[in-house]
Amino acid sequence: MLLIWLGTINPVHEMVSESKKMGALTLIDGAQSAPHMRINVREIDCDFYVLSGHKMYGPTGTGVLFARKSVMEEMPPYQGGGEMIKTVTFKETTYNDLPFRYEAGTPNIAGAIGLAEAADFMADIGIEKIEEIEHHLTAYAHQKLSEIEGIRFIGTAPQKTSVVSFLIEGTHPTDVGTIIDKLGYAVRTGHHCTQPLMDKYGIPGTVRASFSAYNTTDEIDGFSNAVAKAAKMLR
Ligand SMILES: *Cc1c(COP(=O)(O)O)cnc(C)c1O
Repeated sequence: MLLIWLGTINPVHEMVSESKKMGALTLIDGAQSAPHMRINVREIDCDFYVLSGHKMYGPTGTGVLFARKSVMEEMPPYQGGGEMIKTVTFKETTYNDLPFRYEAGTPNIAGAIGLAEAADFMADIGIEKIEEIEHHLTAYAHQKLSEIEGIRFIGTAPQKTSVVSFLIEGTHPTDVGTIIDKLGYAVRTGHHCTQPLMDKYGIPGTVRASFSAYNTTDEIDGFSNAVAKAAKMLR
C-alpha cells in the first residue's frame, strides 16, 4: 500500500473485507493515520493494527500493536522473559494470560506513560479539530504552491491527509530541500523508501512537506516563498 506516502486515505475497511474473502489475515500500518484521524479497529475489522508513538507527538521507541483477541490466542509467544509464563516445570510450560504472554521482560514503562500522555494531548485538542486544521493547512499549501512556476504535485487524491509531495520541473528534489532547509523549512526529500512508486511516476523522488495542527498559514506563506526562491535559483 504505497499510496500512504502521498497522503492518500485508503478505503481500508473495503480492502480488509476483500482480503478476508481470500482467507488472509490483515494488518494495517497506521503510523501515518494515528496522528491525523480517528481510528476504529472494530469498524476496519482488521486482525492487526500498528502505529508509531513518535509520529503522534509521543516518545521515540514506543508504539501500539493491536491484535484481535482470537488471533492472539492462537499465536505462539515470540519472546521469552519475565511475566510471560504462568507455570514452569521440567515437563511443560503454560503461558500467562493475554496480553502478558507477549510482553516478556521489563517493558518501556516511561515510554508507555509518555505515549498515553500524547494520546491525551491529542484527545484534549480533539481529533476532529486536528483534522479540520490540517485539512485547511493542506488546501492552503496546495493553493499557495500552485502559484510557483513548474511545480508538479504528486498525489492529489480528494481524500488525503496533510502531506504535500511535489517536484519542480528542471530541478532535483534534494537541491530544493537543501535550499529551503537553509531558509528554515525542514522537508523530506528523496524516494521516501518507496522506489516502486517513484518508478510508477517516472521520477527520482519528491519534496514532501507535512503539516501538523500546530502549523499556521503564516508558516505556509514563508514556506511557499522559500520554495519559490529555490525554484528561481535552480531553474
Ligand atoms: C514511520 C513509519 C514506519 C516506521 O515506524 P518507526 O516507528 O519510525 O520505526 C512504518 N510505516 C509507516 C507508514 C511510517 O510512516
